[in-house]
Amino acid sequence: MSHKYVYLFSEGNKDMRELLGGKGANLAEMTRAGMPVPQGFTISTEACTQYYTDGRQINDDIQAEIYEYLGKMEEICGKKFADPENPLLVSVRSGARASMPGMMDTILNLGLNDVVVEGLAKFTNNPRFAYDSYRRFIQMFSDVVMELSKKRFEEIIDAKKAEKGVKMDTELDTEDMKDLVKRFKAFYKEEKGEDFPSEPKVQLMEAVKAVFRSWDNPRANVYRRMNEIPYDWGTAVNVQAMVFGNSGDKSGTGVAFTRNPATGEKALFGEYLINAQGEDVVAGVRTPSPISQLKNDMPEVYQQFSEIADRLEKHYKDMQDMEFTIENGKLYMLQTRNGKRTAAAALKVAVDLVDEGMIDEEEAVLRVEPKQLDSLLHPQFDGNAVKSAKVIGKGLAASPGAACGKVVFSAEDAKEWHDRGEKIVLVRLETSPEDIEGMVVAEGILTVRGGMTSHAAVVARGMGTCCVSGCGDIVVDYDKKQFTLGGLTIKEGDYISIDGSTGNIYAEAIPTVAASISGDFGRFMAWADKYRKLEVYTNADTPRDAKQGRSFGAQGIGLCRTEHMFFEESRIKAMREMIVADNTEDRKKALAKIMPYQQGDFEGLYEAMEGCPVTIRFLDPPLHEFLPTKEEDIQEIAGELGITVQRLHEVIDSLHEFNPMMGHRGCRLAVSYPEIAEMQTTAVINAAINVTKKGKYNIKPLIMIPLVGEVKELKYVKDVVVETADRIIKESGISMEYEVGTMIEIPRAALTADEIAEEAEFFSFGTNDLTQMTFGFSRDDAGKFLDYYYEKKIYESDPFAHLDQKGVGKLVKMAADLGRKTRPDIHLGICGEHGGDPTSVEFCHNVGLNYVSCSPFRVPIARLAAAQAAVKEKRAK
Ligand code: PEP
Ligand code: MG
Repeated sequence: MSHKYVYLFSEGNKDMRELLGGKGANLAEMTRAGMPVPQGFTISTEACTQYYTDGRQINDDIQAEIYEYLGKMEEICGKKFADPENPLLVSVRSGARASMPGMMDTILNLGLNDVVVEGLAKFTNNPRFAYDSYRRFIQMFSDVVMELSKKRFEEIIDAKKAEKGVKMDTELDTEDMKDLVKRFKAFYKEEKGEDFPSEPKVQLMEAVKAVFRSWDNPRANVYRRMNEIPYDWGTAVNVQAMVFGNSGDKSGTGVAFTRNPATGEKALFGEYLINAQGEDVVAGVRTPSPISQLKNDMPEVYQQFSEIADRLEKHYKDMQDMEFTIENGKLYMLQTRNGKRTAAAALKVAVDLVDEGMIDEEEAVLRVEPKQLDSLLHPQFDGNAVKSAKVIGKGLAASPGAACGKVVFSAEDAKEWHDRGEKIVLVRLETSPEDIEGMVVAEGILTVRGGMTSHAAVVARGMGTCCVSGCGDIVVDYDKKQFTLGGLTIKEGDYISIDGSTGNIYAEAIPTVAASISGDFGRFMAWADKYRKLEVYTNADTPRDAKQGRSFGAQGIGLCRTEHMFFEESRIKAMREMIVADNTEDRKKALAKIMPYQQGDFEGLYEAMEGCPVTIRFLDPPLHEFLPTKEEDIQEIAGELGITVQRLHEVIDSLHEFNPMMGHRGCRLAVSYPEIAEMQTTAVINAAINVTKKGKYNIKPLIMIPLVGEVKELKYVKDVVVETADRIIKESGISMEYEVGTMIEIPRAALTADEIAEEAEFFSFGTNDLTQMTFGFSRDDAGKFLDYYYEKKIYESDPFAHLDQKGVGKLVKMAADLGRKTRPDIHLGICGEHGGDPTSVEFCHNVGLNYVSCSPFRVPIARLAAAQAAVKEKRAK
């Protein structure tokens, strides 16, 4: 038997969503449960992938099978396609495995032509309805299948209404509808150079193709990338008998949820329109009535609907989102699915379902999307205001939340404006560590360049500040203090709004609403903590970040990037003195000035983390990052440092590197200048001794050496650390343990992890650099060309946001295994940005890491993702 691609609704069930898509599987399930579902068939997701394999063609076998099932459907419905006596009309709708609301296409009323419409008019004794359906069909088919502008059809309707002097579509009579059909067809011919297709079977096949094609439309591709839905899943197509909500005053259509999708409150929630079809509800042309009104309008239908809603919720054990149509007083169910909901509603529904005894805690943990928690932790745009706002451009959704403020173009201006009480959004080509003070005071940060692990993205996430990065369409003119985007010029002081959860940019002020953590959050997160195996740490560079992470439940610090402590105005001078020093003596003098600052910060970190593990990474970036680039700054700083401008130029020139990310950075700095490692060790150990001596916590410092690729370089730096640390501890008279570990962020370190583990007492995977070095493209520049790769389906998502499990993940797994071989109890973690990404966290769980470390605001997300990974693993057994 040839492969089966088409299924009647009566042949499927809810567990077949991979094949039938969510909508198809649920229509089948409702059919099995004896609910009033207009019958039809589902063309499988495999037919969609076959369509693409065959070069965007539906092959003859599949076409034949579709027609065969059309025949079966006719028998079930007791109506025939294209039959003028009693015609069967169908809807053709997409339905992927994971719901992608509004991303793909739908065609209603298919099967009409000039002859069939007359038959429908006679059969229903309702010519206005028949012609209304026909004009709707032409409009939708032309738009969705033939890609003609929807707007032009609306203009034709508006012209007609104006001629008649009426406002509402419902005020147009049969003759008007007939006239609209004529005008639509004439417009179609004018545009397409041929008649509107009148053969229903041709219409059907074209519509199926259009739905398959819509799987690959730009908005679906973006949605998939954001939600990590693989391209090769494909969509199913549902062909369902039409029932008509637009057939009179005893008819109507609506959508309803079993609980309120905004708050989670348990009550039927939704709206409907009398004498209308689905698109009228969505299009907002008429104002629908709340579902409670149906109780008065059609009490029996309401009763039946609420019983079905209740049954469906109990059956799926989750809040349902349902579409229904009433045709001459008879109720039909067109769809049910687990409803999309806000984070607050998701928490409430999950907790309530447990309290109602419908699901257990483990199941509840799976019911909230980890990423959704973002919206509870960051400000968001006011829902109504953002709907009417115009998006003028889009960048990467680099750090979630919403921000609105006046544009400034430099960190200094940001500070100055902020001090005057202004709310500002900092717009930069890219940010560098020097911008930190401006970034701290900004409501949001917008950059032209830079990817998900660029400086702006990483720092903004750490602070919980909204950031949109890498919007390459922006043209910035720093001198004129303005930028252009989407044809608009935005000047310093103009309002903009940016959404770090979507990447959207708006040239207007959109009000924001503050984050609010609801009462259910604590209870729900306690369940997550109960089930997860992975520990969750935070990346924190300052005591403030550490406190934030701790308050979100971090069990330690997995990464303190010590260089971020050097950029504050009071400290950078000493750092620069260290860099310009041309002998060890002077370098040591400068380092001695930095030491107390470092020690103070480390003490702050230890205190903030209340005795939990704190991992401190030694200096990592190339030194040129600490030196000025602008001539005026060079002149000023040379003066401050007491050296000539020429000397400073010489230093800057000598630090120039072709590939700084692969240059003199990481542990290479400590190999060249061991006194840096010595100073940092002193600060770490002294801080630990001071805090321990206070008697509250027993600190065990964790020192992490970055960018190691060879065990001997690790050993060299470790020897410096051990010698210094042991001496200080001995002098202090107290006993203190400490560990020296390394980051695994260079492929060679992963490949030789068994050797590295001879020296390293723990590993932390630095997947930002590991991704960069494995792919061989820069984490800061990849944004410039990755879009081409997405377009061509070479990569489906940003490897700096979601761990590339196949390649980089293979190195992680290999290194973890090799590390454990040498040192069975080695503590393994990840501190690259992937540590806060749910699917990457699941991977870390599966390869048996001990912890993930992420920016403070992602700690709750990682806790939940880790719990879900553990529950999923348990269930798979
Ligand atoms: C990494 O490379 O993954 C890492 C955490 O270090 P950084 O981002 O500071 O290079
Ligand atoms: Mg790194």
